Amino acid sequence: MTTIDDLPIRDDLRGMSPYGAPQLDVPVRLNTNENSYPVPDEVADAIGKALQAELRDLNRYPDRDAVALRAALADYLGHDLTTAHVWAANGSNEIQQQLLQAFAGPGRVALGFTPAYSMHPLLALGTGTTWVDGYRAADFGLSAAHAVEQIRKHAPDLVFLCSPNNPTGTALDPAVVAAVLDAAPGMVVVDEAYAEFARPGTPSALEVLPGHPRLVVTRTMSKAFGFAGGRLGYLAADPAVVDAVQLVRLPYHLSSLTQAAARAALSHRAALLGTVEAIKVERDRIVSVLRSRGLDVADSDANFVLYRVKSDQKTAWRALLDRGVLVRDVGLPGWLRVTAGTPEETDAFLNAMEELPQ
Ligand SMILES: *Cc1c(COP(=O)(O)O)cnc(C)c1O
Repeated sequence: MTTIDDLPIRDDLRGMSPYGAPQLDVPVRLNTNENSYPVPDEVADAIGKALQAELRDLNRYPDRDAVALRAALADYLGHDLTTAHVWAANGSNEIQQQLLQAFAGPGRVALGFTPAYSMHPLLALGTGTTWVDGYRAADFGLSAAHAVEQIRKHAPDLVFLCSPNNPTGTALDPAVVAAVLDAAPGMVVVDEAYAEFARPGTPSALEVLPGHPRLVVTRTMSKAFGFAGGRLGYLAADPAVVDAVQLVRLPYHLSSLTQAAARAALSHRAALLGTVEAIKVERDRIVSVLRSRGLDVADSDANFVLYRVKSDQKTAWRALLDRGVLVRDVGLPGWLRVTAGTPEETDAFLNAMEELPQ
């Protein structure tokens, strides 16, 4: 049998394994921070009509520049943003890949602060970018002083920040973003996949876009919008950044079906985002119940919670799975991450946690 190793694959990909959160068919799936609520019927109907209206024109390529969709995304974001400030792709993963292709790549350096989103280093690898880890403190904190020190040391072409941070859940102090913007010689990408779940008073980096042409804020419809299967991510930045990613995007990267479905979803955004408050209630309940049981729990501005188990995390992960609850082992010794979903899912998770050997 032929294996990867028999192929003339790039040396830097040899021995690697693909991104792989388990997709297991269990009753309670709380491992990829999806929105547990299905798309409401009225929105599903609207998306169906929008798709139907595209079908006869599938002989034609889609709008390469996705202008109508970008206008709708700019309208959603507010902050005086226009179509020219917004770019869209098949998930924010593709957006970040395009940013690396345009601003990093072979011979260039991207810096992140782990534990953070595990795709950032993988996207760097795939684009031939050298990845440098600036690390967070043992309590997962990231101070402005530490971030600036790492930037001075490595002079990265692109810095990834993640706020609220995955997998820890906590939003960054805006002073850290400001200090990084000041110190960074290259692009600064703030991944705000979970912005809609942040606790009140948490500012978005969108607020500091004016006057910062090297700042990029990435967002997604995969989490708060409950549209992970639709694959739609986007960025907001200076229009020059949008010009730059257009140099590397595949022509017609965003199908007319994706564009139509996302536009229909955005025009029903009140219904789609209607679950956010309920999810935040479950998030806060998970934090307070686990803390009341004496566990260490990170503060969360997201739709998930990182907590420390009393045993080895692999054993606890398996024991929860045996009870029908799938959570995420993000590879942090002693810690697990659980998505906040419906009240019933929270009950199932908390009950299963209670049954774990102490
Ligand atoms: C889930 C997630 C994303 C979303 O990626 P998509 O490609 O938009 O589905 C991006 N960043 C972080 C930190 C995430 O956790």
